Amino acid sequence: MRAKALVVASIAITALVIQHAKARPFEDPRADRIAAIDADTAFQAEPRDPACHAPVLASTGGAMPKNARTLAVRWTGYANFELVHNGQIVLLDAYFDRGSLYPSLGFKAADVKKADAILIGHGHHDHMSDAASVGARTGATVVGAAVTTEKLATQAIDQKQVRTVTGRGGEVLQLGAFKVEPILGQHGDPPAQLVDAFGAALKATTPAPTPEQLAEQATIRQRGTQDRRVRSEGTIAYLITLDSGFRIMYRDSGGRITDFEKAAMERAGRVDLGLIAVSAAYLNSATVAQALEHVRTYKPDVYMPAHHDAPFNNLWRSTEPLFQAVKDENPRIVTVSKGYREPTCFNTEHNISRTR
Ligand SMILES: [Zn+2]
Repeated sequence: MRAKALVVASIAITALVIQHAKARPFEDPRADRIAAIDADTAFQAEPRDPACHAPVLASTGGAMPKNARTLAVRWTGYANFELVHNGQIVLLDAYFDRGSLYPSLGFKAADVKKADAILIGHGHHDHMSDAASVGARTGATVVGAAVTTEKLATQAIDQKQVRTVTGRGGEVLQLGAFKVEPILGQHGDPPAQLVDAFGAALKATTPAPTPEQLAEQATIRQRGTQDRRVRSEGTIAYLITLDSGFRIMYRDSGGRITDFEKAAMERAGRVDLGLIAVSAAYLNSATVAQALEHVRTYKPDVYMPAHHDAPFNNLWRSTEPLFQAVKDENPRIVTVSKGYREPTCFNTEHNISRTR
């Protein structure tokens, strides 16, 4: 009798838990730390939102979040992200057609049919190779440093869509609900000794690309710039503030923090979400040190790594050692890393500047 009552009770509790989980339209990774997110009845009343569950980009025809307060974030390889909020789509970097040496992202540049803005962190091909074609098809505003937009000027995109920024302060772009402040960063500069040693080891232990694959890579490479200015004056971090005050820092290369970034963060204080490239230095001792500098400067509530995947014959950059180091220093930081196109949704009403 008593056992039966227990079973009934546990079924009832399970049903409640399932109903509650279903009721929330998204799985905000901060929900277990911020009670107010679970208590948000307006959000709970809505059914599960496909924009926060389906692995389909809004820019390729997937759903937009039902609630204007929701921010849906999807990582799509290297330092590419899709941000969808309040009916608008912002793409961070545009490197989708990577060639047959790379794992598929599950969509092609030609599938991207809707975007309001493309923010390019820097002009190397693995950050901008599809910016012109996607920009031309979608009519999106395309933003980058001079060395990046000089490359765009040679490509098939209406130059009226292109905005050149320096990141040296005083520039604010209002792109719909997204207030974008470009900040001059610095490209990663991993020690040549490390890069050469790992490169040689990979070459010795993995099949060489075919001539066709090499030709394919050369074509893709031409859609970016190799100008030296990319490193010191062409790498732009973007501080993005939504109408609600929710703040995002995006940095697409794992380089050192600049004085411009320090000054911007002295003003902003902290960000809700950091989308931050992992350093290319291979060794955890080096990548962890760089990640800690980023995290100490931006002070994100939620840390999502970028630029950690790689071609089939290469090594992905480890993210777990970074997560561990970040949490050892500040256990409150939430780390999130998902697969290509898997959404993470935030209730932007809950943000550092407004509620805490
Ligand atoms: Zn680069």
